[in-house]
Amino acid sequence: MSFEEQPALNTADCDVASAFRVLQRIEAEEVMLGEGLVIARALPSSRRRTIGAWCFLDHFGPADVSAGPGMRVGPHPHIGLQTVSWLLEGEVLHRDSLGYVQTVRPGQLNLMTAGRGISHSEESPAIRSARLHGAQLWIALPEGARHIEPAFSHHEDLPVVIRDSLQITVILGEAFGKRSPGHVFTPIVAMELTSEHGIDTVLPVNSSFEYGVLVLEGSAEVAGEQLESRTLLYLGCGRKNLRIRTAGPACVLLIGGAPFHEPIELWWNFVGRSKEEVEGAGRDWNSFSDYFGVVTGFEGERLSAPKPPWRA
Ligand code: MN
Repeated sequence: MSFEEQPALNTADCDVASAFRVLQRIEAEEVMLGEGLVIARALPSSRRRTIGAWCFLDHFGPADVSAGPGMRVGPHPHIGLQTVSWLLEGEVLHRDSLGYVQTVRPGQLNLMTAGRGISHSEESPAIRSARLHGAQLWIALPEGARHIEPAFSHHEDLPVVIRDSLQITVILGEAFGKRSPGHVFTPIVAMELTSEHGIDTVLPVNSSFEYGVLVLEGSAEVAGEQLESRTLLYLGCGRKNLRIRTAGPACVLLIGGAPFHEPIELWWNFVGRSKEEVEGAGRDWNSFSDYFGVVTGFEGERLSAPKPPWRA
């Protein structure tokens, strides 16, 4: 069954769809990030808001950042979510209001827990590789964790499993009996699947999770669907395994989780439960409230919250 030719799903349809095995192709939307990096936003989209508690998925690059500013995202706030930074090439330097200054590189995880509130900046370091390529994801925090104190962690030693010549890095959650050291608050998983040459394998997956896959490099056939980069394939729940085939070098991001039923309001850099809540967070940030702390060391302007679309 395919939703390819069907009109956009509304939220109610998403809830129905997430109870079944489905194949829904979601074309990422190209947007500008900060001062000059084009990114493909696969989540949220008009066709899907969440996969498990995953509520945001940006794929940036591959881009030549040897000249020009590269990535430069000035200080900005977050509430109610965790951010996951994952690179295939290059470096991103993170600074936050807790005082962490941490460069993330390919194969490493930067995991920031905003909880009740944090601010950070992200930039290409002055001394850097020519190419930048990666993904940033957000995880919505559940009610019981969304008001906790903010935290940041960096992990360089993530579990790696080889299966039928497919290299599987467990970025978050658990797979093949291996657990990522990154702390999460709902049952979710993220894996990077890398093949050096053509492979054909069947991966066991959790039938109570819904899953999505995004090709980051090369191309792959997943559950019978041919995928290029820029297409997110949503797979729904109820699968016991997933067939993955590649014809050559490829890198695929696989995310999943227990369907997240809390009604989130996602606006700008905030995940809340109501428009009033996220609008209030934007007002606090724009009025330089000390609630979000201060990011030091970023040479450039901090970002301002725009006017919410419901105020336009
Ligand atoms: Mn951010």
